[in-house]
Amino acid sequence: MDLLEYQGKQVFAANGVAVPSGEVASDVDTAVAAADRIGYPSVIKAQVLIGGRGKAGGIKIAKDGVEARAHADAILGMDIYGPRREGPFRVHQVWVEGASEIDAEYYASIILDRSAKKPVLIVSRMGGMNVEEIAENDPDALIKLHVDPIAGLDLDTARQVAVDAQLDDDLHDEVAEVLTKLYAAFLASDATLIEVNPLIATSRREVVALDAKVTLDGNALFRHAELAAAAPDDPDQDPQEKMAKERGLTYVALDGDIGILGNGAGLCMSTLDVVANAGGNPANFLDAGGGSKAEAIVDALEVITSNTKVKAVLFNIFGGITRCDEVAKGIIAAYQQVEMNVPLVVRLDGTNSEEGLRLLGEAGLSGLHHAETMLGAAEQVVALAKGTPA
Ligand code: ADP
Ligand code: MG
Repeated sequence: MDLLEYQGKQVFAANGVAVPSGEVASDVDTAVAAADRIGYPSVIKAQVLIGGRGKAGGIKIAKDGVEARAHADAILGMDIYGPRREGPFRVHQVWVEGASEIDAEYYASIILDRSAKKPVLIVSRMGGMNVEEIAENDPDALIKLHVDPIAGLDLDTARQVAVDAQLDDDLHDEVAEVLTKLYAAFLASDATLIEVNPLIATSRREVVALDAKVTLDGNALFRHAELAAAAPDDPDQDPQEKMAKERGLTYVALDGDIGILGNGAGLCMSTLDVVANAGGNPANFLDAGGGSKAEAIVDALEVITSNTKVKAVLFNIFGGITRCDEVAKGIIAAYQQVEMNVPLVVRLDGTNSEEGLRLLGEAGLSGLHHAETMLGAAEQVVALAKGTPA
């Protein structure tokens, strides 16, 4: 999970890293009031989960209240595109902070290097531009050090990185301290990435994190209830994705009209392929997971059919740990609890499939079709979605 800049800065501050003080605002008046409190010049910064906001016009310095109002008004609600045209990311919040007098702009990051099974610390004297640009323009300016996760990062080692990166001599000690605190923040928040770009030296030679990009390990979020809760509800998020997430289902929205449910990511992927091959357009990817219980099946069907574009649904279950009779019970329960106004094609194979099919047969559910093979099921669901059942 990615944090917004201001949330990342909260993580930094909690670990002793200096950040400009500021306030978050989601409307113009609040932003201006914040700037008035902070004093001028202050900076109005778009809070979106994409870098390059400065270049995109999402970061502006205000020298007085009039400018603060104009900037907040322009930035709130604007659509920001990433450096590779990712997006648009609509700005729902701004962060208002005091403007720093910048003497030097450096780059620092800590990234979990999965292949090395260690965090890697990267520091450069060339801050402000993105790291790909640094790597291209001046690869020698990027100093990398893998940190032993048991030993951690000590001050001497961190200082050597600052020296190797040729940061200004008078800053080596302070940068070393900031790097160890960033490393502490990385560990404490179970982050997979922390990027500070730029890490600046102010005119008073203080080292301050002016930007913050923090990615948390989603699997460790349960240990950070406060951060997980602080994550803004993304108003642009697909409603089915949101619903699925609340129910702990793995769901990806696609733009077709055939709802898909499978158990296991591999089976789901191949189900998408088979449906596409049969001439259909999948509306989603939904992995009910191994050992799917009846309850999960009800949830899954509710999520899939809440998408009004869906014209037919394909249930492709290969029973292993998952028992087909459990799945059948889930389907029957879903027919009782959810308004099933689209046809459903079911293929049940593997553990307890006969029992599952018997239960479904006895329930006599209208609009329910059974297919023996995956290909047959795909052809049937495509025909039903097109309104031309065989
Ligand atoms: P992004 O990386 O998304 O463009 P940053 O937070 O890095 O956003 O800001 C871009 C640039 O704006 C910085 O490199 C810096 O020059 C300037 N800037 C950002 N925040 C401040 C601040 N508080 N004071 C002065 N300049 C700032
Ligand atoms: Mg930046």
